[in-house]
Amino acid sequence: MAANVQGPMSGVSLGVFDMHMHPTLKSFMLGKKFLKPHHPPAGFFPLTMRTDLDALLAGGVKAFFSTVYMVERDFLEDIWPLRYVRWLLPRLNHILRTPPDALVLECLDHQEAVFEKANVRRGPVIETALSYSEMKRIMAEGKIAVLRSVEGAHHLNGRVENVDLFFEHGVCHMIVPHLYPNEACENVDAFPDLTALRKIGCFHKRFNMDTGLTDFGCEVVDRMLEVGMLVDMCHATPRCRTEILERARNHPVKRPIVMSHVGVHELAPYPMNPDPKEIHDIAETGGVIGIIAMGHWLKKPEPRDGLEAVLQTVDHLIEYGGDEVVAFGSDFDGFTGPPRDFKSPRDYATLRTLLRVRYGEERAAKFLSGNVERALQLGWGKQ
Ligand SMILES: [Zn+2]
Repeated sequence: MAANVQGPMSGVSLGVFDMHMHPTLKSFMLGKKFLKPHHPPAGFFPLTMRTDLDALLAGGVKAFFSTVYMVERDFLEDIWPLRYVRWLLPRLNHILRTPPDALVLECLDHQEAVFEKANVRRGPVIETALSYSEMKRIMAEGKIAVLRSVEGAHHLNGRVENVDLFFEHGVCHMIVPHLYPNEACENVDAFPDLTALRKIGCFHKRFNMDTGLTDFGCEVVDRMLEVGMLVDMCHATPRCRTEILERARNHPVKRPIVMSHVGVHELAPYPMNPDPKEIHDIAETGGVIGIIAMGHWLKKPEPRDGLEAVLQTVDHLIEYGGDEVVAFGSDFDGFTGPPRDFKSPRDYATLRTLLRVRYGEERAAKFLSGNVERALQLGWGKQ
């Protein structure tokens, strides 16, 4: 199947632009094969892979943020069994011993080699976009456009100059906080159900909601706005989110602020999710909110099927942010537990139909990709 799925009525492209996928977490860290079709079940199965090439093609994914994440040192301290498992996983051991900024570049090289192999075996099917115009060209050629993205400012290794270095390597998007406090800011709790692990002494961390950006964090956000790297405030504390929005408002050039993989606070009241005012404020910057494929963050109590909650989330985003704020960011392969009916990129085929029926062709096209493309036009590179 071609990556671009055309609507039968108006010819509007209904290919998907997913704002948050982690194929390298599985291929770089666990050695999973991007070129092999996988069919993992719903729920938390971290040793499987969901974002393989066949699944992307079957779901009509035409572009995605391939997000690099290298575990923080605190992760190992907090989840103490990993201290022993690391000796069984040479890749994990390597990651824990190598500076995170060097690892980002190593992972990007690894990813390039994987795509090269894909194109040799399957014809020209996937390509990394190093600029907005390259992204548009790759999409027009009907190939999957891959955008480089990083999750967590700990990857900067305390050096603001690494924003420029990553940008020069084509990184167009960075989530500033992540699972543990980094040099830029603290974070909210992103681990949904850990009762069993807490019983054996893992996940001790207490989350301090009253923290914002550090001085270094302010410098990083300003530099990202300056060079044109999308600032993502997923995982940020509400106070940190307010501060990031404030910095964007005060920046001389209009830059979109995004949240790439969340639900909404009204349906799933966790600090992770934006409230109506934040949805409105993000929309005002020209930004978007990517809806996650994970029942826990979509709705409380967690539903076993998720697409109905996805549609309710779309409605809620439209109510407070307008049509322009709606996007999707599945977090497939991000060690998440997706629901039964939205467990792989393949399920975008069903979601596409649901959106088309409920909102019509043109609005569905905006939600599925047009809005993210617009945010990138505004936020990627010099203006
Ligand atoms: Zn995340």
